[in-house]
Parts: sequence; C-alpha cells; structure tokens
Amino acid sequence: MNTTIEVDDLVKKIVARVASELAREEAKPPTSVNQIVEAAVKAQRAWQWDFNLESRTRVISALKSKLLPHAEELAKIARDDTNMGRLDDKILKKKLAITKTPGPEYFTTRAISGDNGLILEELAPFGLIASITPSTNPVATVINNTICMLSGGNGVVFSPHPGALRCTFKTIDLIRGILAEEGAPVEVVSTLSDASLDSLKELMSHPDIKLISATGGPGVVRAALSSGKPAIGAGPGNPPVLVDETAHLEKAAKDVIAGASFDNNLPCIAEKELIAVNCIADELKDLMCHNGAYELKDRSKIDALVDLVLTKDHKIKKDMVGKDACVYLEKLGITPPPNVRLILVECDERHPFVQEELMMPILAMVRVADFKEGLAMAKRVEHGFRHSAIIHSTNIDNMSDMAKVMETSMFVKNAPSFASIGVGGDCPTAFTIGTTTGDGPTTPLSFCRLRRCVLHGAFRIV
Ligand code: NAD
Repeated sequence: MNTTIEVDDLVKKIVARVASELAREEAKPPTSVNQIVEAAVKAQRAWQWDFNLESRTRVISALKSKLLPHAEELAKIARDDTNMGRLDDKILKKKLAITKTPGPEYFTTRAISGDNGLILEELAPFGLIASITPSTNPVATVINNTICMLSGGNGVVFSPHPGALRCTFKTIDLIRGILAEEGAPVEVVSTLSDASLDSLKELMSHPDIKLISATGGPGVVRAALSSGKPAIGAGPGNPPVLVDETAHLEKAAKDVIAGASFDNNLPCIAEKELIAVNCIADELKDLMCHNGAYELKDRSKIDALVDLVLTKDHKIKKDMVGKDACVYLEKLGITPPPNVRLILVECDERHPFVQEELMMPILAMVRVADFKEGLAMAKRVEHGFRHSAIIHSTNIDNMSDMAKVMETSMFVKNAPSFASIGVGGDCPTAFTIGTTTGDGPTTPLSFCRLRRCVLHGAFRIV
C-alpha cells in the first residue's frame, strides 16, 4: 500500500537528516575556549615530541614558501578589513614577516665544561602560548609569531583583534592548510572563534596556557602582566626622530618621510614626532616638502586637523587612524598635491600631535636650540615606553649619547625606522617587540625557557 511506502521513506529521510546533522556537528571546529585549548594542547605535544628538528625545519620552510604567494591577497584583505594603511606597504610587511622571521636555525646550545663535567644550556618550549594581536599589523603579527613560536616547539592560540577578524582568520586558515599538507597537527596554530574580552580573559587564565604574548596598546599589556603568568608585553610607543646639524639633510628628509609614512604610520616603530635642531630646521622642512610631505601652516587648519583626528580630551579617534594623507587634507578642504605621503605640522612640545601616538601620516615637528636640548625632549616625549627612537647625525658622540639616554628596544641611526625590522637592513624581522617587559624584538628564543642539563664527572676532554 502506498501509505506504508511513504511513511518508510519519511522515516528514512528523517534518519538520514539526523545522521547528517550529527556528522556536521562533529565536524564543526571547536568554539568554546576550553575545547580550543584542549585540541591545541594535544597538537602542541605532538609537535614537540613527534617532530624532530629536521621535520620542524621542513614544515617551517614549507610555511614560508607556501605563504609567500599569498602576500598580496592577504594584504588586500587586511586593507579592506581594517580600512587602514597602504596596500603596497602591507604587501611588503607580509613578505617581510614570511621571509625574514628567523626559524629553528636561530637556536644554539651553550656548553660549559669544567673540572666537574659538562653543562649544556638549551632552550625548550613553554608549551601552549596565547598570542593577542593588534589591528595595526594583524596578518604580519600572526605570521611572525607562528614561525617564531613553532620553531621552538610551542603551539599557539591567537586572540584576534575585533577590527581585523577576517584577515586574521584567513591567515590562520592558510597556515593550517599548509600544516595539514605537511602532515603537521593543524591545531598547533589555533584561534579563538570570537574577539570578545570575556573569551580572551578565559584564554589567558586557562591552566594550559603557559605564556602570554600581548602585542597592542597599554590595556592589553596590563591585562597580560596582571594575569600571573609569564608574559611578553609588546606595548605602545611614541618614537621620536632627532635630526641634528651634522646630518646629511637630503637623506634625512627622505628617510623621515619613508619611515613616518610607512603603512600610513601604523607601525609602533614608526617616527611619531620630529625634533630638529633650529639651524637646519628650515632646510630640512624644505627638503621634506620636495619629497612627499605637505606642510600645514595655517593655524586654523591645524586646529581643524586636531578636531578631526582627536577627541576633546586629546585621545585618538580610532576611525581616523591610518588613512592616506590626502584623506585628512581633503576633509580640511585642501586639494592635496600629487603623491603626498605625509602631513608636516610645526608645533611645540606640549601639542597633542607630539604627545599622542597618532598612528596617522601626520608628523609634528618641534625646533630645539641644539642636540642636548633635543635629546632631553626626545626622552620626555617617548614617555618612558622604551620602544623606539631614531637619529640622523654624523656625530658619533651624539649618536652614542642618544642610544644610551633613550634606553629603547630599537634605536636606528641614519635610516628610516623600519630598518630595525629588517627593511633595507640586515636584521631579522619582529612584529612583537617586547618593550614593556624588555624582551626586545622577539625571535624564536623569546618564546622558550632556558634549561640547564648537568653531567657530573665526565666529558671534560682536557
Ligand atoms: P589594541 O590595544 O586596541 O588591541 C590589541 C589587542 O588587545 C586586541 O586584540 C584587543 O582586543 C586587546 N585588548 C585591548 N584592550 C584590552 C584589555 N583592556 N584587556 C585585554 N585585551 C585588550 O591595539 P591596536 O590599536 O590594535 O594596536 C595599536 C597599539 O599596539 C599601539 O599602541 C602600538 O604601538 C601597539 N603595538 C605594539 C607593538 C609592539 O611590538 N610593541 C606592535 C604593534 C602594535
């Protein structure tokens, strides 16, 4: 009878539907913090114990070579997602993170031998790391941290920035795809599925998280340092660039513009205020205006720019961060000159453009009588962040004095600030610079624990 067949079909359909729903449910990636951490811990143990140095090196090289063709795609997504920065510079940052982040080759073993035997000091993984990433370099930080952390045998759970979710998830998806292709446990690189502060707090306090790497503003660094866990605090900066009367002025002008306008001034290392010795200040300004800077002179326009980018209590307006220079000029009713990269504003030390970390291609310039006065000012306006400072000078004593007095993690002489992360320079790159905690530019070593292994009474050869 027809009715029986129909009921049978219906039952079969319901059973099939329920089975498929259950299968999909099982296939869903874990979403609770606890599930994510559990899976990541398992993967980290496999990565630490089952992947020897040779396999680890193979996987890291595959990550580098297979991510490189995606640099432009990731840069475009990051630009659209955050609505900040410059596409060409973003592509460069991705390439930098992929090609210049050091890998397992960075490790060395220290050996001490004496009358009583041999001591080996080696670096071992912390285990599972929570990494909190900023909106200003979301993709480059994920790539740089992944290579460094995995090189030492660690696993990582990222906490994405709420304003950079799409590009962060896309980068992590690509990384996990490559890990799967290479036979490595994919959950060794994991991410929270949302960017809420509650999830982040739960992650940081999870007993299986052994180290916190916090890259961002003062809030997140404070949160990481008060977690009671070991932490790398990569906090804010306000890097001054000082140009003295002995500098090669044309080069200094070009370098300051290149550094201060790089990715529209988003990087924490970028020149945030210019301190110029009075006798060269006018010439320096002229040279800058011939090389991509626009000087805003009209006082009422400067006040309008302050109102445009800062709140009444002089905090930055987040939606004004990292735009192209022409965007600010147009909003002020000024037709931007072609190829303008940077807006130059002469002001005094107390001006908020000097005091605040703007992260916009707007550079305040302050005059000083001489190098000594300039150095004292540079020290004050850096606010003790110990982040970055730059000098243009050919006076060795001035360069040396500034390096000592500033006590910053990065100090660049006669180059744009980005030389400190390897652009046009020889050093490795770092997108997590442990400024608050003193780790400095991080490398695979930064995410490891030092362990001493003592062999008593043997292996001293002579
Ligand atoms: P941000 O502080 O707004 O966000 C960074 C991360 O911290 C985000 O994931 C956010 O969700 C989280 N967060 C913010 N406040 C928090 C709190 N109170 N508790 C817990 N988590 C919190 O940073 P941003 O605006 O995206 O990035 C710019 C800042 O980061 C600048 O100050 C810049 O100098 C700094 N930065 C530093 C480095 C470095 O290596 N030292 C590198 C890049 C950026």
